[in-house]
Amino acid sequence: MNNKSKIWMDGKFVDWNNAKIHILTHGLHYATTVFEGIRCYNTRNGPAIFRLEEHIKRLINSCKMYHMTLEYSDKELREAIIETVKINKIKDCYIRPICYYGYGKMGVNPLPNKVSTSIALWNWEDHIKTVGDNGMRVIISSWARIDSRSLPIHAKAAANYANSALARIEAIKSGLDEAIMLNMNGMVVEGTAENIFIVKNEMLITPPITSGALDGITRSSILSIAENLGINFRISDISPDELYNADEVFLAGTAAEIKSIGEIDKIIISDGKTGKIASKLQNHYNEIVHGNSKKFEDWLTYIN
Ligand code: PMP
Repeated sequence: MNNKSKIWMDGKFVDWNNAKIHILTHGLHYATTVFEGIRCYNTRNGPAIFRLEEHIKRLINSCKMYHMTLEYSDKELREAIIETVKINKIKDCYIRPICYYGYGKMGVNPLPNKVSTSIALWNWEDHIKTVGDNGMRVIISSWARIDSRSLPIHAKAAANYANSALARIEAIKSGLDEAIMLNMNGMVVEGTAENIFIVKNEMLITPPITSGALDGITRSSILSIAENLGINFRISDISPDELYNADEVFLAGTAAEIKSIGEIDKIIISDGKTGKIASKLQNHYNEIVHGNSKKFEDWLTYIN
């Protein structure tokens, strides 16, 4: 990946190609790193960051779980993110703030090391590519989703993504797009970096966060939009066979946005294309993030 944009590193803007850290950075060796994924969309009133407050709150909570003492307040982080979008004069982008234990002392204990923070951004339009209006082709991963007895799964932490990466590799090596992960009880949790929803008999269903799913900001946005549109929804566990028999299955996340699944383990879901409810939610989500909804206007932080 190459890019001309500037990256904020501990209070200073550096050129993309100079955004470097030491090879003995603690977070690289022991995954003592947390991060966020945020999107900024162009609107009639210029670029706007979607649900910035919620992302900052989750980042702070992730840091807390890893005993990280940040050198920046919530307000300073918020301002740094806005400034990074501003200085790069970018309209649509994906923003990646990251906090990690840095270089200093090796060994499992991260605490002697300083916690560093960076904010990078890039265009990320084709997050998961599909052909035409066909849904994604996915497998149910043979890797179980990590369990809250092993790692704090509600922290958006790098450590969790080794589990996700293995599942994604499994899907890619099978010639498919993405993997769905089950928890230790065999119930559906989420995609490798997205929450999951199904529709059955006009009822929208998503697993509870106690299943092990990340408390996704897109997930919560979808539930609010569904409520606003009068779509019936329920939060309850989903078994793998309920997935295969669903009328619609889709994934939702900041990077992926709302993406339908057309095939799971070679079983075609309905006609394999984006369903009626997913399509309705996609349209509304699109309008909201681009500043065309009065009702959800307070989800946007305008840059100018
Ligand atoms: N689950 C996992 C494992 C994720 O990595 C993500 C992406 N952050 C999500 C769900 C969706 O969360 P959000 O909508 O907040 O991006």
